[in-house]
Amino acid sequence: MQQFQQYIGGRFSDGSARFESRDPATGSVWAMMPEAKTADVNAAVDAAETAFFASEWAGMTATTRGKLLYRLADLVAENAQTLAQLETRDTGKIIRETSAQIAYVAEYYRYYAGLADKIEGAHLPIDKPDMEVWLRREPMGVVAAVVPWNSQLFLSAVKIGPALAAGCTVVLKASEDGPAPMLEFARIFDQAGFPAGVLNVITGFGPECGAVLTSHPKVDHVAFTGGPETARQVVRNSAENLASTSLELGGKSPFIVFEDADIESAVNAQISGIFAASGQSCVAGSRLIISGKIKDAFLTRLTEKTASVVIGSPDDMATEVGPLCTEGQIRTAVDLIAASQAAGAKVITGGAPLDCDGNYFPPTVIDCSDAPNAPCLTNEFFGPVLSVLSFDSEDEALQLANDTNFGLASGVFTKDLTRAHRMMRSLRAGIVWVNTYRAVSPIAPFGGHGLSGFGREGGLQSALDYTKLKAIWLRTSDDPIPDPFVMR
Ligand code: NAD
Repeated sequence: MQQFQQYIGGRFSDGSARFESRDPATGSVWAMMPEAKTADVNAAVDAAETAFFASEWAGMTATTRGKLLYRLADLVAENAQTLAQLETRDTGKIIRETSAQIAYVAEYYRYYAGLADKIEGAHLPIDKPDMEVWLRREPMGVVAAVVPWNSQLFLSAVKIGPALAAGCTVVLKASEDGPAPMLEFARIFDQAGFPAGVLNVITGFGPECGAVLTSHPKVDHVAFTGGPETARQVVRNSAENLASTSLELGGKSPFIVFEDADIESAVNAQISGIFAASGQSCVAGSRLIISGKIKDAFLTRLTEKTASVVIGSPDDMATEVGPLCTEGQIRTAVDLIAASQAAGAKVITGGAPLDCDGNYFPPTVIDCSDAPNAPCLTNEFFGPVLSVLSFDSEDEALQLANDTNFGLASGVFTKDLTRAHRMMRSLRAGIVWVNTYRAVSPIAPFGGHGLSGFGREGGLQSALDYTKLKAIWLRTSDDPIPDPFVMR
């Protein structure tokens, strides 16, 4: 049985309690994880606070911070395979995807390393003759970062990277489902040479670990990725301390295909958009909105290709769809599909868990053309389930696409340039992909609105988001200050 430890103040420890982690591909326990209770959370926040105010980190130049982040990026790249194998083992995400994604995570750290010494202040052209005013951008302080299981190394890089570039310190709470890659990341981070306490990595359950961390009076900012219901609790928690929050939540993203689209390309992108990562992706293109003129041809090609998707063990490079991370997701999928069928939706392919060990659910397509109120159109599955609607006009496509409380991602397939521009403008989502889907980069901001949260990760602004502004006023006149009762 493999054993993992938490990382607090530069030291590794077992945590106040231990819990079992199951392999989603087999259902068997394979590792023991540290469970952070209140005392561990307090110790982690104290370590982050001490590092922020009273370690060499506090006086370190931005350039040196950047160099440490570059070293971290190199270490992530060197250890990408180990990290990928652990993520695959503990979350069931296929090795084909974790290998590529974690190699790219190193590029995220490189990007933030480069930003560290580009966080500039300003001198203001103030409207008073005897005054100089500067703006300093200072790090926010202690950041609580909370992530879900899927793509943890990636989702934590877009928090840890900009936070450290800005000079903050971080307590990262890994998901209780599949924390192994983050606990191993802590070992790699430890080799990079950051002062103790700059990053602390703990894991544990929502109520005792997550809630204590996100309501902690010493936390200045909470960066959260997860579901909307947990996000509401996190915002309530952070209100205790009036800490600021950024929220990256789920989605029910539309994938719109017009009749002039390149069908083969759109089918491949749709498969990637909903079946890659077994649909456990916040940007999953889970609502296909297809022109009625090509609906039958498109669905025929989609189901043909879906039938040849390789379902298998996540550690096999040939596997394209692996198990879901938790058993609970299977129950959610089964219940939502049953409720959708009761509302008139028709399952075209898939629809029931596979009869084998592990949390396997096959790629599923549900036609909702006669069931506009089917719950599968509004609820996030976090599984490989695609719901289909068709349209007769561009206006109808747009109306269906925007008929959601989420606002994270969207996709449009068309060769008509002016129509593409109209759609880009009118889609209510933080990301619009045209003739592509599921493309990400550290250079491009990522995030949504509505039930998809607020704040952006990635891009230049993301490092600024971990700073606060200080206005500094300097009076340049040697004359006595005039009338003290008049505001100047
Ligand atoms: P979740 O909301 O259940 O859990 C996320 C994290 O919050 C976990 O670490 C959990 O322990 C913690 N948590 C739970 N209760 C808490 C509480 N009361 N206080 C503080 N923390 C608490 O999410 P999940 O089911 O693990 O992940 C799936 C969700 O994440 C989906 O909705 C998905 O769309 C979303 N997601 C969003 C993005 C994005 O970038 N927008 C990326 C990936 C996943």
